[in-house]
Amino acid sequence: MKRVAIIGAGAAGCFCAALLREHAPELAVTVFEGGNRPMAKLAITGGGRCNLTNDFQGIRSLAQAYPRGERVMKRALKAFSQEDTIAWFTAHGVPCVLQEDHCWFPQSQDAMDVVRALQRAMKGADVRLKTPVISIGPAADGIYFSQRFAKNQIPSAIAMPTRNSFYVNDEEFDYVVVTTGGAPKGLPFLEDLGLELVPPVPSLFTFNINDAGLKALMGLVVEASVSLAGTAFKAQGPLLITDWGLSGPATLKLSSYAARHLAETGYTGTVLVNWLDSSEESARDALQETAARNPQKLVSSTHLLPSRLWNHLLAKAGLREDLRWAELGSKGLNRLTAVLTGDSYPLTGKSRFREEFVTAGGVALSNIQLNTLEARQYPGLYFAGEVLDIDAITGGFNLQAAWSTGYVCATSIMKSSVE
Ligand SMILES: Cc1cc2nc3c(=O)[nH]c(=O)nc-3n(C[C@H](O)[C@H](O)[C@H](O)COP(=O)(O)OP(=O)(O)OC[C@H]3O[C@@H](n4cnc5c(N)ncnc54)[C@H](O)[C@@H]3O)c2cc1C
Repeated sequence: MKRVAIIGAGAAGCFCAALLREHAPELAVTVFEGGNRPMAKLAITGGGRCNLTNDFQGIRSLAQAYPRGERVMKRALKAFSQEDTIAWFTAHGVPCVLQEDHCWFPQSQDAMDVVRALQRAMKGADVRLKTPVISIGPAADGIYFSQRFAKNQIPSAIAMPTRNSFYVNDEEFDYVVVTTGGAPKGLPFLEDLGLELVPPVPSLFTFNINDAGLKALMGLVVEASVSLAGTAFKAQGPLLITDWGLSGPATLKLSSYAARHLAETGYTGTVLVNWLDSSEESARDALQETAARNPQKLVSSTHLLPSRLWNHLLAKAGLREDLRWAELGSKGLNRLTAVLTGDSYPLTGKSRFREEFVTAGGVALSNIQLNTLEARQYPGLYFAGEVLDIDAITGGFNLQAAWSTGYVCATSIMKSSVE
């Protein structure tokens, strides 16, 4: 009987185990989990409701949803799409509902239903809790390289396995699927394999901005676009003003797009907010039109934005509270246009967003066959989920990556095991 080791009982690992148990019961599946519970993170996703996928409406290019891993996801989604996710969970007793914001959730609004469905489907797998994997490597005819030779003394003649098997801790397996999730502290158990790793950096965080005027607007949500001065990074969506700076989907999206850049700058720079999410030209036109229609009205009382925000921006543009539209003049118009479309704030750091946090980086995609997710150098060794250098913006895209890549690994193993 061929043996499959899955390393990590998270979303990707458990989905892969479930598919193998359902469609290839002739394979013996062992799941190694370092923690004391399977799918502990999945149980708290989406604030305990589990945003298990997205309908992808409004995503023009996949890179918008997957700043890293777009090419892999294009193939993986062809193999197992968001519709497949909904169909699979529905067929496994978890009917789902689509929200207006394009996010899919279980109808019960309970992430535990997703966890329980996976647990039922992977019945028969040998799940070993509190069993962290400390090393994985190729085994050639029963010889474990890392145990026989110091890392840099492996004789090159036998550095490639003569048959596809691997040791996991001290056991031998025919196939290994690594699904250990985002690894902010690196992947020491992969050291013996000599794979290229992309250094981990956080993604999906909020911005610390120390600005008293902005803080006074705490709680306000505006549809806007945010960008980083001097870069092409830009994101659009609801922007939430908090007591520490900026949050909400637009900020989280920008943090994802600029994750690596911001790690390099130490989370400093200048954040530009376009409060109207429009070009300078259209903003100017809108202001001129308002001025023409309301010449005698106070600028402060004819607001194009929520009044608290409007007054904050008028003050930033240096406009008097008792100024009338007729008195704005071209200088005033220029200053107001500039502040409405490019209001700048110094970024002083990042905060960890409680609800959603992923790691960019991991196993470099250059190591991986894109259609099977098998390591190029080690046939029989697969990777799925966040351990790969794949991560997404919020909205169910990260879990969809876990399902799709878990599916590709399971089907690749099934095909290979009957060849
Ligand atoms: C609070 C929170 C909420 C989130 N909400 C959502 C959401 O609603 N929608 C969405 O799409 N995404 C969400 N995400 C992101 C999503 O949870 C992850 O992208 C997804 O869980 C990744 O799946 P995975 O299987 O790759 O890794 P994980 O689910 O992280 O699982 C990895 C597993 O491997 C185990 N492991 C690690 N190292 C070892 C080892 N050496 N030996 C044995 N076991 C090991 C870990 O203990 C863990 O159980 C959220 C993330 C967080 C933190």
